[in-house]
Amino acid sequence: MQSNRFDIIIIGAGVIGHSIAFRLLRAEPGLKLAVLGDPVNSLMASRAAAGMLAPYCECDRADRFFDFCRTSLSLYPAFVQELQKISRVKVTLSMAGSIMPYKSVEDQWENRLAFFRDQNIPHEVWPENDVRQRLPYLAADCGPVLWVEEGQVNNRCLHDALVAASRELGACLIDADVTGFVHDTTQVGGVVTASGEYFADRFVLATGSWSSQLAEALGVSLPLKPVKGQMCRLQVEDNRLPYTVHGFLTYIAPWREGNGFVVGSTMEDDGFNPVVQEEVIQGLIADAAEILPCLAEAPVIESWSGLRPAAADRMPVMGKSARYANLFYSTGHYRNGILQTPHQADYMSATLLGTLKEPVPEFSPARYGL
Ligand SMILES: Cc1cc2nc3c(=O)[nH]c(=O)nc-3n(C[C@H](O)[C@H](O)[C@H](O)COP(=O)(O)OP(=O)(O)OC[C@H]3O[C@@H](n4cnc5c(N)ncnc54)[C@H](O)[C@@H]3O)c2cc1C
Repeated sequence: MQSNRFDIIIIGAGVIGHSIAFRLLRAEPGLKLAVLGDPVNSLMASRAAAGMLAPYCECDRADRFFDFCRTSLSLYPAFVQELQKISRVKVTLSMAGSIMPYKSVEDQWENRLAFFRDQNIPHEVWPENDVRQRLPYLAADCGPVLWVEEGQVNNRCLHDALVAASRELGACLIDADVTGFVHDTTQVGGVVTASGEYFADRFVLATGSWSSQLAEALGVSLPLKPVKGQMCRLQVEDNRLPYTVHGFLTYIAPWREGNGFVVGSTMEDDGFNPVVQEEVIQGLIADAAEILPCLAEAPVIESWSGLRPAAADRMPVMGKSARYANLFYSTGHYRNGILQTPHQADYMSATLLGTLKEPVPEFSPARYGL
């Protein structure tokens, strides 16, 4: 019979929760650890993302967040290799890079270039003539292209692999939603679910967009809300584009190996409303086809929506609770949680094991009095 007492309970079954479990169990194989949460929640960000590993296209300031994301990108190849070995699930990862066509970032072209130069980010400018040769399927009026050394992962395979690895390493996976906590003013004792109560010495709250609801059940206020994204996946041959395309109107993420291209995405303040609007999807495809014309006629494989967990200051909330001695948070990874996964897993497992050398104050739950 399954016991209901653990060393650590992680609440949340997305890439964040499972990657912490993976790292903790690699570091301390004897830990009795449970991951609670619905592993296929239809709005979970981890399966809804495009899988771009894009610290350089996404950040425009050299702050602690940028450093964190940059390190995470560098950890990706070894992380995926280790994960595949344990989970025996293939994770499609490409480090071929991203491109920004002049046409889609016109106003920001000079800023981006200056930022890449200042920060020693590996990049190249491909003049228009080169672009025609290298990328024959790109729209003829794209202009020059800025290439930057970034990555792309199939985030659904990543999530599958993390779930399989947690299980393989001995985590107890419990498909149940937490509805409340057993706690006093300084300690959390247990969690309440429809299938009973579970107890542990330490707890991690890794529930993405649902984190403020759980914080409320603990009597604290976490200013975090979902930012909805609608997107779709189109059937296109892999050879049409070997890079991820970034633009301010749209992005195009090749999932490779016959899985087509993901086109995204909206940024909507629409609560937990899962509705996908056909006209919005058609608008995304039309914008993307301005860059890669073959997308206009490509069959739509699927369209969906997902929720990005966004804290008020758009920074992740990672670390030890200031209020409860045995509670830890890892949430608020917003637009870049897939990118942050490897570094976040190291950061959080070191926090839990008491070996973290340099906590980042900007990420601390204490900034919200949590
Ligand atoms: C449209 C879209 C595109 C994106 N594109 C990218 C991208 O290209 N690159 C990138 O790096 N990032 C991207 N992101 C962001 C990234 O997906 C997220 O930051 C990341 O997946 C967050 O992971 P998570 O595990 O914290 O949250 P989630 O994946 O949302 O998982 C939350 C988990 O908590 C569980 N849960 C919720 N409530 C409870 C409860 N009461 N009890 C128990 N469990 C509970 C859920 O069931 C779920 O298992 C994108 C996100 C979206 C929505």
